[in-house]
Amino acid sequence: MTPTRRRELFARLAASYPNARGELHANTPFELLVAVVLSAQATDVAVNKATQKLFQVANTPQAVLALGEEGLKSYIKAIGLYNTKARNLIALCRKLVNEHCGQVPRKRETLRELPGVGWKTASVVTNVAFGQPTIAVDTHIFRVACRTGLASGNSRDAISRWLEETTPRNYKHNAHLWLVLHGRYVCKARKPECWRCPIEDLCSYTAKTPAPEKRHRVIGIRHKHRTPMADGGRHG
Ligand code: SF4
Repeated sequence: MTPTRRRELFARLAASYPNARGELHANTPFELLVAVVLSAQATDVAVNKATQKLFQVANTPQAVLALGEEGLKSYIKAIGLYNTKARNLIALCRKLVNEHCGQVPRKRETLRELPGVGWKTASVVTNVAFGQPTIAVDTHIFRVACRTGLASGNSRDAISRWLEETTPRNYKHNAHLWLVLHGRYVCKARKPECWRCPIEDLCSYTAKTPAPEKRHRVIGIRHKHRTPMADGGRHG
């Protein structure tokens, strides 16, 4: 994709999602880090429900450690993989207290050394909590980037690096928010709603979905031209 086309694509996404913001509830970098760790293979709604109660009693590494693994589990047990996540979060809090004075590191490389924190989690935290121009890639962004031609690669981390290298500077901070919303609500996994997509003419996906009325018209034409022979042949 050419730089001009790329710039135009982000300009349109920015105009389409003017109030884009993350859907995980968090007031501090630590709360955000915990919420993102919990969000792997879980919905934002389920995570917000759990953290609403958890953060009332424990929203610092020290307080989570005081809860202990079993205590923590009692707050997050409605979330998938909660046993592993509880174990990781306790180890993560211990490391924050022992090696970072209880503070969340600002560098992505340092964040990645924490238990349960991968490239995506570290990218979300550096972007949202510390305002850095990192682009986290989830399943929605991966799909939108590949379909549109914004990036290509075999892994989310590769797409993340590609997007960080090519996204115009003034769009970099919010790029992941626009792309995730676009993937969630328009460029859906099973059937992208291309007929109402604001970047349709810039997107290189070849199997674009036509507007519903056009689809009906096509089906209608097919029915009109179907011969009795054709139907008879099918039903014997
Ligand atoms: S045109 Fe279709 S495939 Fe391309 S970004 Fe829009 S919804 Fe997705």
